[in-house]
Amino acid sequence: MTPETTDPTLTSFIEGAAGSPFPIQHLPYGVFRPSDTAQPRIGVAIGPYVLDLGVLEEAGLFTDAALQDAAPFRQPTLNTFMGLGRPAWTAARKRISHLLRADTPTLRDDEALRDRALHPHAHVTMLLPADVGDYTDFYSSKEHATNIGTMFRGKENALKPNWLHLPVGYHGRASSIILDGTDVRRPCGQLKPSDDEPPVYGPSQLLDFELEMGFFVGPGTPLGAPIAVADAIDHIFGMVLVNDWSARDIQKWEYVPLGPFLGKSFATTISPWVVTMDALEPFRTQGPRQEPSPLPYLQSEENRAYDITLNVGIQSDGMEAPHTVCRSNFKYLYWNVCQQLAHHTVNGCNVRPGDLLASGTISGPTEDSYGSMLELSWKGTKPVALGHGETRSFIEDGDRVVLSGAAQGADYQVGFGQASGRLLPAQPQYPAA
Ligand code: CA
Repeated sequence: MTPETTDPTLTSFIEGAAGSPFPIQHLPYGVFRPSDTAQPRIGVAIGPYVLDLGVLEEAGLFTDAALQDAAPFRQPTLNTFMGLGRPAWTAARKRISHLLRADTPTLRDDEALRDRALHPHAHVTMLLPADVGDYTDFYSSKEHATNIGTMFRGKENALKPNWLHLPVGYHGRASSIILDGTDVRRPCGQLKPSDDEPPVYGPSQLLDFELEMGFFVGPGTPLGAPIAVADAIDHIFGMVLVNDWSARDIQKWEYVPLGPFLGKSFATTISPWVVTMDALEPFRTQGPRQEPSPLPYLQSEENRAYDITLNVGIQSDGMEAPHTVCRSNFKYLYWNVCQQLAHHTVNGCNVRPGDLLASGTISGPTEDSYGSMLELSWKGTKPVALGHGETRSFIEDGDRVVLSGAAQGADYQVGFGQASGRLLPAQPQYPAA
């Protein structure tokens, strides 16, 4: 059922909220520092402001018992709040929505409280929203898997035999998850430029982005207790944009037989605002038809896809703004978030609040919707124009890669902000032999 907090007729007393990426129907959570010396705390984005939930908590404005007991908003991460589960999430969201409404005087008419609780976005520093214990990366776009398979194995056996039966994934690296705006250093490692020569050590020459989205796990599970696909949504707190930076040459040489390792683990960029599943509820839509029918433990409601438009831009040193190289949509994903979580835990693997599960590269059906340079430039054979005479086959030093996204309704949008990062030149730790 669509939550009342997403009612398009709701209006806020906050000037500039309506029509912005953060209207009152949205209310995404993030962690921020109001000044260089202040403790990190939890906030909600509303129009041009960040609302400090720690201040509201301190003022006793959250009366729900679970929220009072846990005091989740004067915390340096969202993990406590994520772990409280849906009843507490709903109570908090209803309360915040009520306090921001145009006809609620509590915050609107209390100038001192407003001064303490509202900070312009430009005045705060955003921090990672969660302490991510485990990071898993899926491979859930059929278009992406088909493109990669076609490039490396030919059209006839592009998809491996398991792909249509289970959401393929691997365990990623949580320690190198970084926030929007953090520079990324071009990695060095083992490369094998020639089939006939031994491997060499050096900077990756085929540095790529991957357009993905990820979700944060809410309440955790004990070891040995799978999450049923029908219950999975209650374990999903919300979503962020994910750029799973990839070194294609390191990946190609190292991945046999155990899968991606150093070609992926040097950096994963996420956006700062966690968009709740409640805010996304109006944007649920039909996912791709699944044929063959999945095994019963993976059979989910068919409308578990979400209509979220996604964009990737590249901005070189000399450019004033990013040039769009990819337009895609989250709804193209073959395996949905509930199926991913059910599959992840079907063997009894436990999950914990703040775990991040990413979708895999989200490619669409058309050539301008491919979610990586590997596909957009088709292994470097079709360089992509950036305007001003510049072209790219892969990411070059100094390039800034900007992922953005939004769910666009008839009356308002739910913005995801950005997951951006600039590529710095390699700094080899060891001299090339
Ligand atoms: Ca990936």
